[in-house]
Amino acid sequence: MKKSELTVYRERAILVGTMEESPRSLRGEPLEELEGLAKTVGAEIVGKVIQRRDLPAAATFIGSGKVGEVKELVSAMEADAVIFDNDLSPAQAKNLEEELGVKVIDRTELILDIFATHAQTLQAKLQVELAQLQYTLPRLRRMWTHLSRQEGGIGLRGPGERQLEVDRRSARDRIADLTQKIGEIEKRKQREVGGRTDAFRVAIVGYTNAGKSTLMNTLTGAETLTEDKLFSTLDTKTRIWKLSSGMKVLISDTVGFIKNLPHQLVSSFHATLEEVTDANLLFHVVDISHPDAREQIESVDLVLAEIGCSQKETIVIFNKADKLTDLTELTIAQRRYPDGIAISALNRTGLDALERGVEESVHRSMILLDLKIPAGEGKILAELAGSGRIQAQEYIDGIVSIRAYVPRRELYRYAPYLAPIDGECSKTS
Ligand code: GDP
Ligand code: MG
Repeated sequence: MKKSELTVYRERAILVGTMEESPRSLRGEPLEELEGLAKTVGAEIVGKVIQRRDLPAAATFIGSGKVGEVKELVSAMEADAVIFDNDLSPAQAKNLEEELGVKVIDRTELILDIFATHAQTLQAKLQVELAQLQYTLPRLRRMWTHLSRQEGGIGLRGPGERQLEVDRRSARDRIADLTQKIGEIEKRKQREVGGRTDAFRVAIVGYTNAGKSTLMNTLTGAETLTEDKLFSTLDTKTRIWKLSSGMKVLISDTVGFIKNLPHQLVSSFHATLEEVTDANLLFHVVDISHPDAREQIESVDLVLAEIGCSQKETIVIFNKADKLTDLTELTIAQRRYPDGIAISALNRTGLDALERGVEESVHRSMILLDLKIPAGEGKILAELAGSGRIQAQEYIDGIVSIRAYVPRRELYRYAPYLAPIDGECSKTS
């Protein structure tokens, strides 16, 4: 158990969760997700405590007997931090830290820490810092630096780490400053998004670790980071996906959704979520091999509802089908989502069906036109070949007569070339 001073120090954490007595929660391992999140920030899990009770205690969240149990475990395991699977009120966190003598982290702080360590772009960094400040403002008097044996550490990393050195007033100034900067970046980004509104856009959403980035890579060959860590992608990535039919669509990988995503993040990650709200079609990727697949679908649906996207056209994708040994869960899920498509993003199976689903969706968003375009107008012909679906074409006397489906929102581009409808008299000559 002796810790080496020479190796990179991993914080030793004890996980604490509560468990309802209901049979539903007996299916999954109660702290499995929290463990995944804690490992993502590099913690070493040295103990777990589960309280079976429904109502949290007002002062310390868990009962006083349990607090004693955790305290003993902290000293026996030389733990540095206790991580709760729930959100704690500032008072609960303070009381628990006083009783336990080590850093206490709640679920939201842990998730914010993960966002902090994974933020790549300036925009993401500012958004995380804002979310951290907003969440920790009422908690500023918790001087973790005195409790922690190392600089930084869970809950203290990332762009928001300076929060501990500042007082409330400068925290408020910083919040105002960040809000303004983020607003500027969002405006700039909106202009960029506005510049490419003609393409059909797919946004990949789904519970974290469902395989969104893997699917994105498989479809586009993009080198988006995939890791078996929760939240390995933070920033939205958009790429061109060329379907085997030659059709091209834009596809965006988005941040993972998880159960009880901190509200600060849902509201501050506007730009990331804009890729979702602006999309023509959503891919909702589900890890169908996960024992909590159904709950995860519900969590994602909740976030989608929160950002006003529940009515958006969605293809539910049952990913990791290769891992299934028993098809019961897939059968149940497919009964509920009859249009769901089973795939393996890793083994590249089921992708044909997925492409067909996208093509049908693109098709529905298109309108059939008869066009007459002078052969010299290469640009418009190229555009038509790229985003339209040509059904028939004929070349006569320097004019290309084309029957094609074009995206409804690109209709205005083709208006000058609309051919008279069959049977209608030509007004010329
Ligand atoms: P994201 O958080 O939704 O972006 O998930 P990732 O794409 O990062 O994938 C999470 C983990 O699941 C990685 O270890 C992937 O290799 C793995 N994974 C993704 N798709 C599949 C699949 O179809 N089958 C299997 N067996 N593993 C997969
Ligand atoms: Mg990802």
